[in-house]
Amino acid sequence: STDSLGVAPILTKLQKDCATPLPVLRHVADAMADDMRAGLAVDGGSDLKMILSYVDTLPTGNEKGLFYALDLGGTNFRVLRVQLGGKEERVVATEFEQVSIPPELMFATSEELFDFIASALGKFAQKEGGNFELQQGRTREIGFTFSFPVKQTSIRTGILIKWTKGFAVSGTAGKDVVACLNEAMERRGMDMQVSALVNDTVGTLAGARYWDDDAMVAVILGTGTNACYVERVDAIPKLTKRMSKSPITIVNTEWGAFSNGLPLTEFDREMDAESINPGEQASIIDSKCENFFSSYTWYHTVSSWSFLLSYFLMKIFEKTISGMYLGEIVRRVLVKMAKVGGLFGGSYVPEKLVTPFVLRTPDICAMQQDTSRDLEAVESVLYDVAGVKSDLSARKTVVEICDTIAKRGGRLAGAGIVGILQKMEEDSKGLIFGKRTVVAMDGGLYEHYPQYRGYLQEAVTELLGSEISKNVVIEHSKDGSGIGAALLAAANSKYE
Ligand code: ADP
Repeated sequence: STDSLGVAPILTKLQKDCATPLPVLRHVADAMADDMRAGLAVDGGSDLKMILSYVDTLPTGNEKGLFYALDLGGTNFRVLRVQLGGKEERVVATEFEQVSIPPELMFATSEELFDFIASALGKFAQKEGGNFELQQGRTREIGFTFSFPVKQTSIRTGILIKWTKGFAVSGTAGKDVVACLNEAMERRGMDMQVSALVNDTVGTLAGARYWDDDAMVAVILGTGTNACYVERVDAIPKLTKRMSKSPITIVNTEWGAFSNGLPLTEFDREMDAESINPGEQASIIDSKCENFFSSYTWYHTVSSWSFLLSYFLMKIFEKTISGMYLGEIVRRVLVKMAKVGGLFGGSYVPEKLVTPFVLRTPDICAMQQDTSRDLEAVESVLYDVAGVKSDLSARKTVVEICDTIAKRGGRLAGAGIVGILQKMEEDSKGLIFGKRTVVAMDGGLYEHYPQYRGYLQEAVTELLGSEISKNVVIEHSKDGSGIGAALLAAANSKYE
């Protein structure tokens, strides 16, 4: 149209601001490696927390017997049992169930919540039969994946720092969550005990290692993102009290907080500009925000948007690469293009499109899969989500925007992975790049977004070069973390 700027200059600027040429990727990888080292030197030494997981025994494949896993990270929890048959038979059988937590329990007392979980676990255990058999004289051992902030002090103890994601359970903060669960099971006279408290990324690495001795790194790319890897104990200056004789331990990087040298756009920065409390402490905002995010009404609470937006720049890496945000960034670009670029004709901005987070990452993924000549799937997503009728040229532009944002995300995630590998290689020459190394991937974004996956791999290959990258295998580890937790219970069994 004649009275607007047109979409071309806005698209060109976006592509320029999101560009991740090799020097940018190299800078990100180097900075990731440096930040990791700083976080290992001293607590609080870097954006990356580099949390010690206390997991220093990974599954070997020789594990035998019946083990349980419990995964609590949101409004559902999963229980699982696995019968392990050793090197030859491997996984003889598995069964799992998903249980939803009644909303009122999210505001209950610690005892009430853990009694509910113990009871569900007990009912599940009672259905054991068929191929499942507990060795004589043993209690059932559980690997407990608990995705809330805890200060772990051993493989079997973790003090809850705070509930997040909408949970407001009283009386747990400051307590050991393993003891809370064990006591609840004892109260019910159950023959079960927690043997390992596990972060979900660490569970993924354990699950991958069970099948493949070369698994050294695990990365989750879902709503959020995180990564962990196998570290040499000698390379962790802040580890002063050694808990075991093992020369290695798993370190949870919490890499979502990385922020060094990332290519950002006005759309990322806009979020910061809308912040009402730019100076507020990260931890306070973090806890408020997580509660806020997962409450059912958050997207109606328009007055809280500015608060919400203030949160984002604190986890810049997560914001540019993970599933929570990719759709939202695209939405912001679309609003600007509609307003000043005439994307949908004149300066028409579809009313629905103005609501933050209405465009989700699965939507932009679906639009990118459209191979039809008229881009019919793009048309229907735009109609369903934004209530807008689009012409073919607008649809083509929308696909380009999705591709630009997915490309930046995938390539930066790839650079982050290379940063971890580089850090491992620099400290133990030849142990990573001189042999086959597996990076285990999990999470809905990685699993369902082929273009994103492709860009991630492309960046890794560009950075490492074709020779070394032949040795680096990036592969999807399907439901690694569920079985992984049970495997860590086995690897850390109190009977071994
Ligand atoms: P979690 O919420 O624990 O990270 P998942 O690993 O299943 O759970 O990841 C879910 C996230 O994956 C969603 O929030 C979304 O961002 C992303 N996702 C899910 N499906 C798709 C899809 N089809 N295309 C792109 N991203 C997807």
